[in-house]
Amino acid sequence: MDVHQNIPLKNYLTMKLGGVTKYMSEVHTPNELAEACRAAKQQGIPFFILGGGSNVIAKDEGFSGLVILNKINGFEVIEDTATHVVLKIGGGENWDSTVAKTVEMNLTGIEAMSGIPGTVGASPVQNIGAYGQEIADTLLSIEAYDSTTDSFVVLQNDQCGFSYRSSIFREADMGRYGIYTVTLKLYKSAPQAPFYDALQRYFEQNSITMFTPKVVRDAVLAIRHDKLPDPKERPNAGSFFKNSIIEDWQLGELREAWPDMPAYDLGDKHYKVPTGWLIEQAGMKGKLINGIRVHDKNCLVLINESASSYADLAAAKEAIIDAVRDLFRITIIQEPLEI
Ligand SMILES: Cc1cc2nc3c(=O)[nH]c(=O)nc-3n(C[C@H](O)[C@H](O)[C@H](O)COP(=O)(O)OP(=O)(O)OC[C@H]3O[C@@H](n4cnc5c(N)ncnc54)[C@H](O)[C@@H]3O)c2cc1C
Repeated sequence: MDVHQNIPLKNYLTMKLGGVTKYMSEVHTPNELAEACRAAKQQGIPFFILGGGSNVIAKDEGFSGLVILNKINGFEVIEDTATHVVLKIGGGENWDSTVAKTVEMNLTGIEAMSGIPGTVGASPVQNIGAYGQEIADTLLSIEAYDSTTDSFVVLQNDQCGFSYRSSIFREADMGRYGIYTVTLKLYKSAPQAPFYDALQRYFEQNSITMFTPKVVRDAVLAIRHDKLPDPKERPNAGSFFKNSIIEDWQLGELREAWPDMPAYDLGDKHYKVPTGWLIEQAGMKGKLINGIRVHDKNCLVLINESASSYADLAAAKEAIIDAVRDLFRITIIQEPLEI
């Protein structure tokens, strides 16, 4: 196992901030992954599994352990029937290239998640989702190295604790599992209307009435191109805040002052409120705080224009959280994890 020392984390994170990691190693097989986790444990240092670094923020003091870069590849058809195909995909594969492959195969199930940066292995961690699809809808199981029991395990969908942008992998069992394959069930039937609002609008505006996985992928990529800055040109970590979940009584109270407040019924007396809307109402849209820009096309996105440290980002984040809390009494929650 090759181990490199004192590597700047910002070179591996799309936000382009943060200190150095003491050690870093690439893994290409499940055995190498297990070996790296074991070695860190034996040395009494923490380890952190990193994919594309598009949902991680590094602190200025860096990381005093081992960052394990997941490069475990693979793309295998394990079942092919008249109605569906089951695919087992290596955790180190690029997510969007994987979506592109499934779309070429004319399979339905993940096409609306086109354009999400990062790796396949990270996709269950925050139950990635976009335009009405989330990975929990198509994921059958994952294979992982369990660092607690020092064994290889298979977890079925219902063992992953999926919820909105969350799972056991970023909650109770954060850091425990190294995911090296994801098994998905995708369908041969065409994508079905009605689609997620923004997608439906795009189809109507462009008079599109025939839907294939490729039609959906192209539409999603066009919409995302307009709304989301490319991290290669303008460093960012996608949505910096999760959408906010509030209770029905809170919505009732808030709508007295804000009758137009958008909210989506989640059932069980809970509503999802777009945090971008809250940030915009709080007057933060387009603001530049400590070198961090609140994106003017999507207030959920914070762009690192000229920040030089994690401290700059943290101060900007607090200013935004405070502004929203002062206005709405809602505490908005950061989406990217911190190393
Ligand atoms: C421009 C932009 C747009 C985005 N759009 C969306 C979107 O539409 N929807 C959405 O849901 N997300 C979106 N994201 C967030 C991000 O792309 C996803 O969360 C993605 O899954 C992160 O993948 P990654 O490989 O970069 O993970 P990383 O950032 O490297 O890691 C994220 C977390 O997962 C853990 N992890 C990574 N790989 C593994 C593994 N193999 N086993 C166990 N744990 C692992 C890490 O330890 C870390 O805690 C966006 C980000 C950007 C920059």
